Amino acid sequence: MTYDAGHYDVIVIGAGHAGVEAGLAAARRGAKTLMLSLNLDLVAFMPCNPSIGGPAKGIVVREVDALGGAMGKVIDKTHIQMRLLNTRKGPAVRALRAQADKPLYIKEMKRVLESQDNLTMKQGMVEKVIVEDDQVKGVITETKAAFYAPTVVVTTGTFMRGRVLIGDLSYESGPNNQRSTVSLSEQLEEMGIEMVRFKTGTPMRVNSKTVDYSKTEIQPGEEEPRSFSYETTEFITDQIPCWLTYTNEHTHKVIDDNLGLSAMYSGAVKGTGPRYCPSIEDKIVRFNDKPRHQVFLEPEGRDTEEVYVQGLSTSLPEYVQNEMMRTVPGLENAEIMRAGYAIEYDSVVPTQLWPTLETKQISGLFTAGQLNGTSGYEEAAGQGLMAGINAAAKALDLETLVLDRSQGYIGVMIDDLVTKGTSEPYRLLTSRAEFRLMLRHDNADLRLTEIGYQLGLIPEERYERFQEKKRQIEVEKKRLNKLVLKADEVQAVIEEAGGSPLKDALHAVDLLKRPEMKYEHIDRVSPSEENLSDDVKEQVEIQIKYAGYIKKALEQIDRMKKMDSKKIPDNIDYDAINGLATEARDRLKNVRPLSVGQASRVSGVNPADVSILLVYIEQGNVARVSGE
Ligand SMILES: Cc1cc2nc3c(=O)[nH]c(=O)nc-3n(C[C@H](O)[C@H](O)[C@H](O)COP(=O)(O)OP(=O)(O)OC[C@H]3O[C@@H](n4cnc5c(N)ncnc54)[C@H](O)[C@@H]3O)c2cc1C
Repeated sequence: MTYDAGHYDVIVIGAGHAGVEAGLAAARRGAKTLMLSLNLDLVAFMPCNPSIGGPAKGIVVREVDALGGAMGKVIDKTHIQMRLLNTRKGPAVRALRAQADKPLYIKEMKRVLESQDNLTMKQGMVEKVIVEDDQVKGVITETKAAFYAPTVVVTTGTFMRGRVLIGDLSYESGPNNQRSTVSLSEQLEEMGIEMVRFKTGTPMRVNSKTVDYSKTEIQPGEEEPRSFSYETTEFITDQIPCWLTYTNEHTHKVIDDNLGLSAMYSGAVKGTGPRYCPSIEDKIVRFNDKPRHQVFLEPEGRDTEEVYVQGLSTSLPEYVQNEMMRTVPGLENAEIMRAGYAIEYDSVVPTQLWPTLETKQISGLFTAGQLNGTSGYEEAAGQGLMAGINAAAKALDLETLVLDRSQGYIGVMIDDLVTKGTSEPYRLLTSRAEFRLMLRHDNADLRLTEIGYQLGLIPEERYERFQEKKRQIEVEKKRLNKLVLKADEVQAVIEEAGGSPLKDALHAVDLLKRPEMKYEHIDRVSPSEENLSDDVKEQVEIQIKYAGYIKKALEQIDRMKKMDSKKIPDNIDYDAINGLATEARDRLKNVRPLSVGQASRVSGVNPADVSILLVYIEQGNVARVSGE
């Protein structure tokens, strides 16, 4: 017998990286929000690598921040090291990565959640979603509390029928020996939501006191103050290093000799794993020509001796993990504090979702995070934010948000998931974004903060600062377009930059377009009267230097938006369209794309099919087919 435990607008199941962003976004849009999680001491827990960011992922963290989310601000306050990657390469591949202080990250995120108006947090195991006539009504916990709401966001990560495997040992469990969620996964399946079995893995953690760092290479952080959030003004300077060592032929021999004992290679693991996060067993098998593999020793925090052994993800038996690990220089006497393991879990097939992340089968039911087939804290946070925004929109009849592929990596990821699906845990890569020159680390706010403000996620005071930044960028670009520099004025800075001397006067904007020239060179010759921030100067430099590429990208984006604006009527009957290839017809019937643009991205749909579909719609056949 259940009891009425309260009424809300939005219920979020889970307080992982997706759940926290979903709950905060919904509450900040004014929705009375409830967040339920198995263990409130483990909100935003990192069951795997203690790092946030990196290529593409780091840009998602900035996009979450630009839309008012929490991940960026929290990691800025709780990291032990931060580095900007690819600084020598173009702005499109620069990305920030931070090593997190895991316990501190949880503590700070819990503080942010507890101080959020409209958000109630409760510890509990959700056993069932209440559904009537394909409409969500609420959830029931194992303590028989019935919470009611018109929208529910499920962000249960790797807990769905979670199964941990270490050698021939396997047991039902979520990550880190937390309980697994079984009934919820079964219920989704009973409601006709197709699930797939995925797997991921993690390496051992060792005690830092038992590591001989003299046999490893230090990997320091950066002096330069860096931040994910545009709001961060205090920077952590006391950076803790990581350490680099390598496997060797002895390591590879131990693994080779015991491969059959690995849960992955004994056939015990049924789920599909992430190609881009291979276990050490996978590396030895797939790259057996490589004499060594990198192993990074990453402290899990400032006040813990636990060290994450990046690169030795494994599901070999514990005694083999010890033997294998102790062949690695620096780890000869290391003591494992937690053994590595593989975990299998259920994920939802994401082509069953609308781009708002609402399920097609159940109205008001949203899913986000690892549950949608992705892998990574950042991917989860990006989806959680969008699901929270849209669940609040559904509950309160507000504007929904779908980012397209030119607005953000979040848009690229969700479009890939709901349009193409994924046959393995999906990880964001810069190569997935056709407009990556526009989706940069430096311009996430210029792409998204206006939208965040319109949706009520960005406070007034921050919006005004953002507006001022935009004004300064435009004013300075105009100034450099008008500014004519005499040759003798700039010879010194050109020489310093290693450029060829000027013969005649030149517009500052054209001088800046020279590859060797930087904004600071112009600034020294003709400084702005305004006190411009480094962010503004960086924007002026990038927007002027890459103007040509940006113009081309904007033309391509225009073409994509045109195709995405050609809507496909809900009642289209793909069986009535002559000339469509069978595979395309089946895929279109399965995915039910909302636009011709989305249809063109469905795998198995060829350009010829798209033209046939376009003609069919433009000739207005759809209405007649439905007998109108
Ligand atoms: C062993 C392991 C290794 C990993 N390795 C990698 C890697 O190498 N690279 C990488 O990018 N990512 C890796 N990940 C994935 C990464 O951890 C996830 O992508 C990320 O945590 C997903 O966030 P999420 O919010 O979707 O789910 P999670 O972080 O898993 O959070 C799920 C939340 O749901 C709650 N919950 C679950 N069931 C219920 C219920 N019935 N009722 C109430 N609350 C519930 C839990 O308490 C938790 O708060 C790994 C994960 C694991 C477990």
